[in-house]
Amino acid sequence: MLKLILNRAKEIESNIISWRREFHMYPELAYNEKRTSKRVAELLTKWGYKVITGIAETGVVGILKGEDANGKTVALRADMDALPIQEENDVPYKSRIDGVMHACGHDAHTAMLLGAAKILSEMKDKLRGTVKFIFQPAEEGVGGAKRMVEEGVLKDPDVNAIFGLHVWSSIESGKIALKEGPALAATGKIEIEIEGIGGHGASPHLTIDPIVVASSVIMNLQTIISRNLDPIESGVVSICAFHSGTTWNVIPPRAILKGTYRALTFEIRDLIKKKIKNIVEKTCIAYGAKCSVNLIDGVPPTINHPEATKMARKTVIELIGEENVIEAKPTMGGEDFAYYLEKVPGAFLELGTGNPEKGTDKPHHNPRFDVDEAVLYIGTATYASLAYKYLLENFNF
Ligand SMILES: [Zn+2]
Ligand SMILES: [Zn+2]
Repeated sequence: MLKLILNRAKEIESNIISWRREFHMYPELAYNEKRTSKRVAELLTKWGYKVITGIAETGVVGILKGEDANGKTVALRADMDALPIQEENDVPYKSRIDGVMHACGHDAHTAMLLGAAKILSEMKDKLRGTVKFIFQPAEEGVGGAKRMVEEGVLKDPDVNAIFGLHVWSSIESGKIALKEGPALAATGKIEIEIEGIGGHGASPHLTIDPIVVASSVIMNLQTIISRNLDPIESGVVSICAFHSGTTWNVIPPRAILKGTYRALTFEIRDLIKKKIKNIVEKTCIAYGAKCSVNLIDGVPPTINHPEATKMARKTVIELIGEENVIEAKPTMGGEDFAYYLEKVPGAFLELGTGNPEKGTDKPHHNPRFDVDEAVLYIGTATYASLAYKYLLENFNF
């Protein structure tokens, strides 16, 4: 059956690619995916789906009931939002919207999931349960998945398991990577304001120089990962913005620092947060400066359920062969798919789209990011196969 799904995906490859190009040409930022979600709803309706729109503003859900009314419900998820980046690729399907670009591959996710929706609608009589297709808005840093969950996307019918897929430019085209347990990081935002006393650059003794204090804070923060974390664990503290001062002979009154902290578990994230607060406050006291430290948690860690991951691995091995399935390396990027995994078991897979010959190996969020369209059908077949297999074998995890 999986081979039939793969063949069918290959047959409709030109559709998948043309949807992807259409989404790519008209990228939309978080919560503004109006054109995209309208198109998704239109296609799902055409294929006979029960369609729900307006979840988390622009989210769309398609429901397909298979043969067995008492069967389980499995969800498949794609994200639809683009990024505020000016595209630098010179391709016929280049973004038509100034300053907005699909530089993470969410256009491909939407197109691949549409392909799966088309295929599964054709084989409805072979599905032992219900499939819920989730097209969510606002994955990029704003947690659209959280709102989807709050607005009931996992209810009515209640979802028993969920699978997601992300194109991955650093993985060889056509390979699928996955791993049990923590796969992506818990994220957080750092905002620090250091208040000193400004004055003349020639009289530093009459000031409390926030630039010197902030520099010391930044250096001290580096010791959290190197000196406080078990070397076997992983974590990140990066200060990515340092704003202070305007000219050459004035010591400014304040400095602003911004950055991010990341970890693969809540425990490490909490440890890092405690240390950041402590180091910033105590360093500032040592220099006589005042400070405020604001640590804003982002997404939770994306933790793949062991049984769901085993099932997914078996399924993709059957679909594309053992030689094309690899163990994923955890990354410190965050994914709001984590919010679904907090509620229901599931797994998040990575589809390699990196092909140096086609130039599709650029990093995600790069203005020259692109995907190898020749493997999108594999993503479609993966989505469809995971749903089919989960319902067929009536897994209980
Ligand atoms: Zn991204
Ligand atoms: Zn992404």
